[in-house]
Amino acid sequence: MASLNSTPIVDVIKKYQEILKPTVKGNFGRRRFMLGKHGIATYYFIDKLVDNNLHLLEFLRESGLIKRKLECQKCRQFMKLRSKRVSDRIVWVCRNKIENKECGNQRSVRHGSWFRYSKLTLGEVLMLTFHIVNRTDMLLSNLDFASHTMADWRQFVHEVILDYVEENSEQIGGLLKGAFQILVRQHLHCNDEKFRQYFRLTPVLFDYVLSSIRDELTSKPYNRHKKPICPEEKLCILVR
Ligand SMILES: [Zn+2]
Repeated sequence: MASLNSTPIVDVIKKYQEILKPTVKGNFGRRRFMLGKHGIATYYFIDKLVDNNLHLLEFLRESGLIKRKLECQKCRQFMKLRSKRVSDRIVWVCRNKIENKECGNQRSVRHGSWFRYSKLTLGEVLMLTFHIVNRTDMLLSNLDFASHTMADWRQFVHEVILDYVEENSEQIGGLLKGAFQILVRQHLHCNDEKFRQYFRLTPVLFDYVLSSIRDELTSKPYNRHKKPICPEEKLCILVR
């Protein structure tokens, strides 16, 4: 559910697939294949992305996973991103001058984003979230994440994702919307077997469950959230 002035996540992924292509080394005949089909991120893509802090930050901003712009709550002016010796290496700073003195108000680059929930690095959070949402987190077992970190994040992702999508349709909602459309409309729609593998329900059962809880999953539009995601999508996220 991208807003009018944001780029759909699929296009952002496509752009970064192109940017990262030259970094794919070794004997891979099909570079694009390693990074994913056009607009669909792979494990390898995420891996390459988190390798380069600048690419990662730009990707997160362009995709709206962290704020593109941030207003100073004191001056109501837009803040600027500045390099700083903080763990994210970058921070929002208000350079607005009030009576010749710079406001200097600072905010974490994670402000108002999914990443604020963790002390892990941005790359680590992106990687964990990617794998948990894609159900490929078994692949991370050889990395050095503590098992409680994995378990906490798994639970957290599943618990919070619905609330988060409701409140932040502009950000992660865009990602899930894209995933939903690609997955359901293009890949699973005509494939009972794949549908069942993915959602652990047959399409018929899915429709049945949906019809019985449709009302509970339906949100009315309101100010902050003009186009709530549809019950089908919510159920997809839930049963996943
Ligand atoms: Zn300010």
